[in-house]
Amino acid sequence: MGTNSYDFELDKIKELIKNRDARRVGLQLPEGLKTVAIEIASEITKDTGAEVIISGSSCYGACDVDEKLERIVDLLFHFGHSDTFSFKKRKPVLKEKVKRKVFFIELRSNVGIKSVLEKAIPELKGDCVGLVATVQHVHALEEAKILLAHAGKRTVIGKSKNLKYDGQVLGCDFSSVTVPCDEILFLGSGSFHPIGLALYEGKRVIAADPFTMQINIHEPDEQRKKRYIAIGRALDAKSVGILIGQKCGQIKLNEATALRRKAVHKGLDAYLIAMEEITEANLLGFKVDAFVNTACPRLAEDFVQFKKPVISATEFEVVLGERDWKDLWQ
Ligand code: SF4
Repeated sequence: MGTNSYDFELDKIKELIKNRDARRVGLQLPEGLKTVAIEIASEITKDTGAEVIISGSSCYGACDVDEKLERIVDLLFHFGHSDTFSFKKRKPVLKEKVKRKVFFIELRSNVGIKSVLEKAIPELKGDCVGLVATVQHVHALEEAKILLAHAGKRTVIGKSKNLKYDGQVLGCDFSSVTVPCDEILFLGSGSFHPIGLALYEGKRVIAADPFTMQINIHEPDEQRKKRYIAIGRALDAKSVGILIGQKCGQIKLNEATALRRKAVHKGLDAYLIAMEEITEANLLGFKVDAFVNTACPRLAEDFVQFKKPVISATEFEVVLGERDWKDLWQ
């Protein structure tokens, strides 16, 4: 997928650099788009004269602005995500008052949705379909609504509590789906969002990718079974490591310390462990029976093959006997 598939808003970026007289700018792109970083950097330098620093660190979401890079540039352009309320509430990186430094470039898709929807429509079974999309395709939801109406389908696009656009979803924010519907049609790429939707919303999800033209179906029971198994493995733990994520939008210190206190109260050995990148390799050395993740709430799903159970904060409440299994996805 090249630069033509997305709107990189390069004219807007160059204008901002010139208006702010920025001498040094940072670029932060999600993993799949780092391949075009050099092309963008060289165009910016050629047209504005600004020096560009590309973030080589991982970038998982709007929660993951490269604050170390932000400190050393005049402007930072973060691609692929929209500004969220949680980012706006973060503590400023710089103590002195400065103008806004971080700009989110949403990377809206330039690809049409009609063909992929024609493939998805025969897979829809329910009367009412909830329409959602990642920010790249959120502008296409109204068109999707019209196309589905022509196919005789009733649709709803819910208001999001925390995100910028109606029908928009993040991997950890499905608040736009809290509208009555029988199933969900997701416009976007990859399985991360549709799996989360099936898991948390308990509804069948039809995922339609306008770039690859693939249709994938995700059933909630399949996803929930995997989490029940992970929780079951943690029930015998005598010691736990409570993980604190150090990515700027994932730090939940109060939640982690409260969980540790509760665990100790229930007779467990519990330790707080902070790290930026929570990976299997980084967890291997710690001698505890299980881990509880308080960073990205979806992270525990990546650890199903790990030799020790890794569960979310909500799942740990079930282990501690403070939450009923049936309330796991409330
Ligand atoms: S916390 Fe996780 S799911 Fe939420 S935006 Fe960050 S990486 Fe995505």
